[in-house]
Amino acid sequence: MQVHDLTLMLSLFIASLTGSLVLISMARMSQKVEGARYWAAALGVLSLAYLSQISMQSAPRPLLVTTFNSCLILGHSLWLIGAWYFVYIKPSLIRIAILIVPVFILSLIFTVILPDRECRLAVIGVWLICVRGHYGWVLWQHAKHDKNEYLATQITVVVVLLEIALSMLYTLYGTFGSLPNIGSTFSWVGGYTWLVALIGIVAGTPLLMLLSAGRFVRKLEYSAHHDELTDILNRHGLSKCLENMMPLSKRKCDSLAVIMLDVDHFKHVNDTYGHTMGDAILAELGATLKTQVRSSDLVVRWGGEEFCILLFDITPTHSLQLSEKIRDAFSKNVLRLSHQFITNPITLSAGLAFSDTISRKHIESTQALADRALYVAKKNGRNRSELYSNEEA
Ligand code: GH3
Ligand code: MG
Ligand code: MG
Repeated sequence: MQVHDLTLMLSLFIASLTGSLVLISMARMSQKVEGARYWAAALGVLSLAYLSQISMQSAPRPLLVTTFNSCLILGHSLWLIGAWYFVYIKPSLIRIAILIVPVFILSLIFTVILPDRECRLAVIGVWLICVRGHYGWVLWQHAKHDKNEYLATQITVVVVLLEIALSMLYTLYGTFGSLPNIGSTFSWVGGYTWLVALIGIVAGTPLLMLLSAGRFVRKLEYSAHHDELTDILNRHGLSKCLENMMPLSKRKCDSLAVIMLDVDHFKHVNDTYGHTMGDAILAELGATLKTQVRSSDLVVRWGGEEFCILLFDITPTHSLQLSEKIRDAFSKNVLRLSHQFITNPITLSAGLAFSDTISRKHIESTQALADRALYVAKKNGRNRSELYSNEEA
């Protein structure tokens, strides 16, 4: 059977256009997924490359070749840039220029100034192998750190390896053999070009979708468990954390302390300095708490200007010391934050309670006791830490 290779170009055009449209909707839905927009744009530009092959056959050869190669270079560059963003690497302009400019200039030279098809094919082929190889490498490195994206990343790497193998074959044929021009009758040598592109697009699109969707779901999960203003756990997040860590805590810890913290006269702070400054103060409190506790402790925004800290394996004396340290650090940090705009120190009151049994029930009852101790701290004049005791309750 003979298949005209323009038909194959049409199939690539349809595949990349469909991929681009699917990824555009994905990127719109999951606006916060790093790199998704670049991937959608990459497939869009690649579809233009294949469209140019179908629609510009009667155009002068240098124009057709330059258009195709420019779209190909830009499309694959955007694909790699998307992957950089996805793994949290923000590429500098210089890095992007190094990626695109030299290959673009070389392909232009071998098309317009010193037309040499073999050299051009070698340049583009080697560049594509390097770019796809780097793309696979970037994701491979990422998979090592992020187990959630492991499977999709590993499959992508396998597909990329296949692409590279076929690209090598076609580059060698193009450079040393006789690769026919696109638009002539289909040959199996030319078919490698088609096959490698088809694998990249048809297998690549769902994998990019899988990566974007996986990241999106985890971002949603993170938002559901964290407070947006302070970026610390909310109550729902605490519940989830306790669920995960409870069996381990039971085995490893034999004591628990709960500190309930509340900003003193916060309503007055809002009224005096404005809601925006109030928000900044709460964010500062979240940051202070994160730096003061151990990574095994849990910090939660309990609601409004109230925060809760769960400390495991700690003595009452140590937790009281920690509470004082937090209160002191917070007041100093707020003064620094406001650049002395706030003249009177903003203070915290704290209530502490202990339990020597670790269970969901005991955590809840200890938190309630710490809340009562906080009430006592407020009653006794604020700007202090109070330990729960039966007499005061
Ligand atoms: P006390 O010392 O007794 O705790 O007095 P207070 O004024 O801090 O307590 P009150 O409960 O009367 O007021 C709490 C204030 O916290 C009222 C509310 O507007 C403010 N608040 C709660 N959440 C936020 C927030 O996210 N941002 C800002 N800016 N203010 C908040
Ligand atoms: Mg308050
Ligand atoms: Mg309060």
